[in-house]
Amino acid sequence: MTDATPLLLKANLKQLKLPTMLAEHDKLAREAADRDEPYDAYLLKLTEVEVAARTANAIAARIRAAGFPVAKEFDTFDFTAVPTVPKQKVLELTRRDWVGQRYNACLIGGSGTGKTHAATAVGLALCRQGVRVKFATAAGLVTDLEAAQQQHRLDRLLAALERIDLLIVDELGYLSFSRGGAELLFQVFADRYERGSVLITSNLPFGEWGTIFQGERMTAALLDRLTHRCHIFEMNGESYRFRESMKSKADKATKPKK
Ligand code: ADP
Ligand code: MG
Repeated sequence: MTDATPLLLKANLKQLKLPTMLAEHDKLAREAADRDEPYDAYLLKLTEVEVAARTANAIAARIRAAGFPVAKEFDTFDFTAVPTVPKQKVLELTRRDWVGQRYNACLIGGSGTGKTHAATAVGLALCRQGVRVKFATAAGLVTDLEAAQQQHRLDRLLAALERIDLLIVDELGYLSFSRGGAELLFQVFADRYERGSVLITSNLPFGEWGTIFQGERMTAALLDRLTHRCHIFEMNGESYRFRESMKSKADKATKPKK
């Protein structure tokens, strides 16, 4: 080892784009020397820190790219609030197999029943397993599709959506679309049939989807594809938001004033 060794090593690690090894090699080398560790054990540890950092960065990048509105996990989801929802089956959505099999999922239920919360928790769990996820509201997605069409870059947007493994479409049914918007959304769903998964949340039961897609034929064709291989959950019950706010009001009312 010459005086130049540390500098040359740093330069090489930089050139090879191994930033975590660059940051950690000194400290790990000292530890290895103290413990009389063999060279390969040191090299293994050094590569392990790089691999771990890369994995964490990739997960963070996937979560950022997915565009979740807020981070919600299942550890804060109270399944007792929706007793008719099969907890184990919902939790199974956090395992990537169904996306690998190009299955779809639908969460149908009234406002405040935890659809967005559950959809986000599923998406986050899958991002951690290497699944490419995109979270969009139905209205936001249609707006993006229409803008892309007007700006002659629809093909590019559709190609980008094709690279997504799981497209989460939240709040289908709250707003109805123009004929053109509905057709674009239909195209996205139709393109994904057996090629990519979608997770849809909606306040409308399937029987009322005709109002979203304007026309029974388009709706029937869509539902046929969408529900062919699909995990469907009815999230019915009281609004969690409503229940919590009533509970806190009741608590305040019964609490003796200090
Ligand atoms: P939806 O999308 O069905 O309208 P949200 O998922 O937005 O409902 O839920 C509304 C609020 O209530 C959110 O803050 C969410 O975290 C919370 N929430 C809903 N259901 C539950 C639940 N079962 N356990 C814990 N929090 C819940
Ligand atoms: Mg919602």
